[in-house]
Amino acid sequence: MRFLFVAYFIALAELAIAQLPFCGTSSSDQQRMLDDVQFQAGAGRGDQGTVYIPLKVHSLTNDGSSSHFAAWSLFESLCTLNSDFLPSGIQFFLEEDINYIANTAWNHHPEYEQGEEMMIQNNVHGMANCYIVSDPAGNCGYFTYAGDGVALNKSCLGKNSHTWAHELGHFFSLPHTFFGWEGINYSNGKKTSEYQSRVFTQIENKERVRCRQQADQFCDTYPDYISNRWTCNADGFGQIIMRDLFDSTFRADGSLFMSYSNDVCMSRFSDEQMGAMHQSIDGSRFELQRPDIIPRSLGADTVNLVFPGEGQTVEGKKLQLKWDEVTGARYYVLQISRTSNFSVVVKNLLLYTNSAIIDSLTPGKDFWWRVRAYNEFYFCGIQSSAGTFSTEGIPVSVGDHGDVFHRLNVSPNPVASGSYLQILLDDRHLNTGPTELIDLQGNVFAKMSPFWQGEACYIQIPPAAKGMYILRVKTSSGPTQIKLIVNNNQ
Ligand SMILES: [Zn+2]
Repeated sequence: MRFLFVAYFIALAELAIAQLPFCGTSSSDQQRMLDDVQFQAGAGRGDQGTVYIPLKVHSLTNDGSSSHFAAWSLFESLCTLNSDFLPSGIQFFLEEDINYIANTAWNHHPEYEQGEEMMIQNNVHGMANCYIVSDPAGNCGYFTYAGDGVALNKSCLGKNSHTWAHELGHFFSLPHTFFGWEGINYSNGKKTSEYQSRVFTQIENKERVRCRQQADQFCDTYPDYISNRWTCNADGFGQIIMRDLFDSTFRADGSLFMSYSNDVCMSRFSDEQMGAMHQSIDGSRFELQRPDIIPRSLGADTVNLVFPGEGQTVEGKKLQLKWDEVTGARYYVLQISRTSNFSVVVKNLLLYTNSAIIDSLTPGKDFWWRVRAYNEFYFCGIQSSAGTFSTEGIPVSVGDHGDVFHRLNVSPNPVASGSYLQILLDDRHLNTGPTELIDLQGNVFAKMSPFWQGEACYIQIPPAAKGMYILRVKTSSGPTQIKLIVNNNQ
């Protein structure tokens, strides 16, 4: 029995490891980039200011589809990217808007050749071209020398992912920290010298004497032989004890973006890696330089939602949502959700103005909405608080039974126009918002604010009301409604 349990946990562990290969950048392309830059240690940067690099984002989807990688997640990924590059003094900006491409063969490309074809046909000269696709040849991402661009897997992007930083590291000449070991499964049970015939580079040792010639050629990134994704210990280093050619033991440094450690371990480029990226920008990547660029900032700390007002009930068709314009903003992303924690997002829109018209929302439901504002430089954005609104219900057919939801009752019914109506709700469904009188065509005839007197909740029926209505009450557990007959006040 115990043996079965052990086997079960081993199977679980293997499942956890069976994830997408991290990066498909080939060894030969990494070598070509290294040859292009020929890193010189100590060649410091003359100007310590921020270098702004234009990023061209190409968003791929299938033929005929308009469903792209969600803008909210895209900006979160970009925010993390700039945060990852901040210590290097390199920051990315959107000189041009996102390029949307509908092409199934490029969106799902099992072979690198199709990805390279996509890049050669769509690259914008003088920018760092990045392609967001559903399948970049089975990887989380890759850089290719022939395509001169980066492909990124939608499922590997997000706020906590450093895939983009890793692939742009390749774009600016950085090889893996384990450069040479790609595709080799290291085991410390075998003598490291026995691997040399299969390792593409000179095997790097713990001793720093020949570090400039070994593996990634950086002396401040320590040896690393692990070319599959791995999880670090609490100290950020790998669990596997490795042995170098002199039998010195060490563990891999998971803090480096150019290793294959998990996202949670990664946090930095080394000083030499940052220096090499600047050398790349000053050298073969000089056409990316924008020395005269002046970044714009946003003129606010938060976005103010304007319409619908908080808790308002609105028509769900052709609904125009509005928020205050933010000075300096280029993009707004609007999210509408059926849940307060935005776990069920029904709209996720990238907009260029401070309003949006939504064709249709499900009637009779509660919605939560929020807006973030961004510009070409500021990808983290500023955010509104979450607002709520409800959509009007479908007019109900009025039969003999007035109650639509049994938990709501009113008294008296019929009620005289201009008089007070008591709303009877049990403790679990306290009234939380305006109460509406809806005519049988589904139009809102009047809105009334409920008030409490002692333990009873009342509304005043408008003097002009007469006939049959649906009374719609907003409660803490959602809207509810009842048929109400309003008589002339005698
Ligand atoms: Zn890589």
